[in-house]
Amino acid sequence: MEIAVDLHIHTVLSPCGHEDMTPNNIVNMACLKELDAIAITDHNSCLNAEAVMMCAKDKNLIVIPGIEVETVEEVHIVCLFETLEDARSMQEIIDERRLKIPLNENIFGRQLIMNHHDEITDSVSDLLAVATDIDIDTLYELVRERNGLFIPAHVDRPANGLISILGAIPITPDIRVIELSKNCDEQAFLTKNPRCKKYKRYKASDAHFLWDVLERECFVHAEELSVRSVLQGI
Ligand SMILES: [Zn+2]
Ligand SMILES: [Zn+2]
Repeated sequence: MEIAVDLHIHTVLSPCGHEDMTPNNIVNMACLKELDAIAITDHNSCLNAEAVMMCAKDKNLIVIPGIEVETVEEVHIVCLFETLEDARSMQEIIDERRLKIPLNENIFGRQLIMNHHDEITDSVSDLLAVATDIDIDTLYELVRERNGLFIPAHVDRPANGLISILGAIPITPDIRVIELSKNCDEQAFLTKNPRCKKYKRYKASDAHFLWDVLERECFVHAEELSVRSVLQGI
C-alpha cells in the first residue's frame, strides 16, 4: 500500500523548533492531517523521539526515531532507525563528536526534552545545531551498522544541502535516496541536476512549526504499518 509520510520533523528540542512542537502537538497535527507515518529528526539528537512514539501508541500513526546529523562538511543527513536503541547508540557517538558551544537561549530559544505528557523533564545546554567531526563516509558506515537509513536532507537547498556544499552527490558512499524540500520544484531541480534522476526521491517538511507538517502529499510504499516496513519502503 501507499502510505502518506512526513519524514523530517523537529521538536522543541531543536534550537530553531517552535515551543509548540511538543510530542502531543506533533502527533495530533499528524493525525489531523491523516498522515500514516512521521519521523522525528531533531538536530544531532533523538532525545524526544521516545515521547512522540509513546503519544502515538494508541493512534493510527507510525513514528520513526531519527536524527538530523550535521557532518564535518556541514551537510545535513537525516538518519532513520528501526528502534530507539539504534538511534540512541548513534546519539552517544554524536554527543562525543559534536562541537560544544553553550546555547544562547536569547537567540535560539530553549532545547527542551519532554515526556509524553508534554512536561519538561530536562534540557540540553549545548547548542545542538552544530557540526560534528564525523565525515559523510564515516557517518554512512555508522548508520548502516545500526541498520539505519542515510538520507541527505533538503538537497535542493543552499544551506547545509549536500549538492550545494560538495557540488554534486558523491560516488561514495552508496546513496540511494535523497530528500527534497517541501517547496522544491522537482522538475526544475531535475533539469538542473539530471544525475539526481537515478536516486529515489521524496519530499519532507523539515517542520519547525506545527503548520509546516505535510498534508497527505508524499507517499512511500509499505507492506504494512510498521517502522520496519516503512523503512524498507524508503
Ligand atoms: Zn537541515
Ligand atoms: Zn531539519
